[in-house]
Amino acid sequence: MSYLLARVESFGRFDGEALSAEPVMGYGKSGEVPHEMHNFSVASDGFIYGYLPKEGGGDLSRLGGSKGDEEISNVTVIFISSGFVCGYYRNATVFSTPIRHPDKLKAGNSDIYCRVRVNPKDAFLVPFEKRVDEIQPRPKGQFPVLYGDESSNWVSWFERWLQDFEDVIESEKKRRKWTTAVERSSKARKLALDQYGAKCECCQISHQDSVRSAVFEVHHKVPYAENFEVRHLIVSDLAVLCANCHRMLHKMPDLADIRALQRYLDVPVVKG
Ligand SMILES: [Zn+2]
Ligand SMILES: [Zn+2]
Repeated sequence: MSYLLARVESFGRFDGEALSAEPVMGYGKSGEVPHEMHNFSVASDGFIYGYLPKEGGGDLSRLGGSKGDEEISNVTVIFISSGFVCGYYRNATVFSTPIRHPDKLKAGNSDIYCRVRVNPKDAFLVPFEKRVDEIQPRPKGQFPVLYGDESSNWVSWFERWLQDFEDVIESEKKRRKWTTAVERSSKARKLALDQYGAKCECCQISHQDSVRSAVFEVHHKVPYAENFEVRHLIVSDLAVLCANCHRMLHKMPDLADIRALQRYLDVPVVKG
């Protein structure tokens, strides 16, 4: 199996949802939009397309392929920021020539080109507060990407780390399942509508009749939390949104920040 270590320094500030909701990460805090902002967002074709920092040529022989190969599969890609593990892909496909993101996404004004494709089930973004483990031995020098295999020391370190990290991964999987289940549950929808009324918290549209009210959905605002095994339905974790606003909110960096979407859409905010 081959390994690729990618240094993506802006990952240090990514704090968004991972896979369940086609999110983007907490980009833009420095005023600059990193090209890897969609590295854990699901594209419309159901795959994740990852940007890798620039490096000369696209010679896949360093990943066990032959010179001239257009793609190679079964690669583990590890993302680090300041040496800390921030996320990884398993069973990824690496392209020799970067491809345009299928959804024609842009970072600022420039098109995003991707060198990796992965199934969302094989991609894992380490929750922000768990990005505390520094890859060992810390690779020296300036590099955008490094190549390795089972004989590389940092590969052995990563595989051991992954075993220790298994419980975090399991709890994160549970959290994703729980969030999706809550948003689809009719009980949660009723609870939220009873509490907040048939009104979109973002665009403020409201309906009384049952036909038009079908547009309202329940949104689960908690992005990360511990102990999803013992989670109960809490009405303050929920919001009522129309289907349009709900979709748009899931594209925003912070799933809990409905005000940010209102500002983005120039919705006049009603005080009180
Ligand atoms: Zn709305
Ligand atoms: Zn939602």
